[in-house]
Amino acid sequence: MQSIPIKNVGDARLIDAFQRTYYYLRLSITDQCNFRCNYCLPNGYQPEANKPHFLTLTEITRLAQAFADMGTEKIRLTGGEPTLRKDFLTIAEHIAQIEGIRQVALTTNGYRMAKDVKAWKNAGISSINVSLDSLDPKMFYHITGINKFDEVMRGIDLAFDVGYQKVKVNSVLMKQLNDIEFDRFLAWVKDRPIQMRFIELMQTGEMDTFFQRYHLSGNILAEKLLAKGWTLQPKSLTDGPAKVFKHLDYMGEIGLIMPYEKNFCASCNRLRVSAKGKLHLCLFGEEGIELRDLLQSDEQQSLLQARIFVALQGKREHHYLHQGDSGIRQHLASIGG
Ligand code: SAM
Ligand code: SF4
Repeated sequence: MQSIPIKNVGDARLIDAFQRTYYYLRLSITDQCNFRCNYCLPNGYQPEANKPHFLTLTEITRLAQAFADMGTEKIRLTGGEPTLRKDFLTIAEHIAQIEGIRQVALTTNGYRMAKDVKAWKNAGISSINVSLDSLDPKMFYHITGINKFDEVMRGIDLAFDVGYQKVKVNSVLMKQLNDIEFDRFLAWVKDRPIQMRFIELMQTGEMDTFFQRYHLSGNILAEKLLAKGWTLQPKSLTDGPAKVFKHLDYMGEIGLIMPYEKNFCASCNRLRVSAKGKLHLCLFGEEGIELRDLLQSDEQQSLLQARIFVALQGKREHHYLHQGDSGIRQHLASIGG
């Protein structure tokens, strides 16, 4: 690893060699999950024996502080299922109180949402992405392996009641499975301030024929939207890689997340840290850079920032998925999607 004088790191911003600035960190706080989504953890979460535990509250707070000091403004809590952690609310509260952090976002499968969404709001969570792969309880069960459809739907309604202006809903549309619900999803957001985000299925190491069978290109959805009068919005700086479509007759919006598109990475505005403290520069294909050894005391903050800064200089311009390099990761639950 390239060495860098620590005294020069005090002002380091998170800018990479291609002049991309990173304001946004996705932080996984657990690999554990209680769902068994067929495209993610079809056999459920399998704890690894004798592996280190997930980052503690103190380690997470130090990490978030270091990123905030380098210009991070938004932190997303993800997993696995982040709300499974007993100290989830405390983690959210601590991060929300860090100076410079303007947004604490959450990606959740929504199983606790109906119960806890008010507490999430009070803890300082400013935006929520909830996964919902079907509007049909039977299909929901078929994909997720769990009977929590009603709870998730109720949770989404309650989010508006407790004061969220908008909710983002993630759905992985799969060929000849839930893709038949495309029109139904559109109708669902007609009078709801929901950004419905269709995420193209990504191939992971735990899939063999699954990907070939179910992968549905986002381009097909884009064509359908355009044919129905939806218009592609100009990208705003904070959009990240989603392509956003709007329609005058609809209160909701549609976002398409198409990782196999050539320019997907040009608008990448995020870094990721795994639940055990590894920095990942890209969702695809790299081992990660260990940060945990530098999360053990407050005195290590400048060393930690130096390591993050140097690592960032090695971030590639783009992934190579579109050239057939699968960059395969075992599953996305280990890094939070
Ligand atoms: N458990 C939470 C949830 O489901 O929202 C957070 C973690 S999950 C890994 C984050 C997102 O990644 C979810 O919206 C999920 O649908 C998506 N995801 C997981 N595996 C995927 C895959 N192979 N291809 C595309 N999206 C995937
Ligand atoms: Fe769990 Fe989210 Fe993966 Fe589904 S997508 S198995 S909810 S981590």
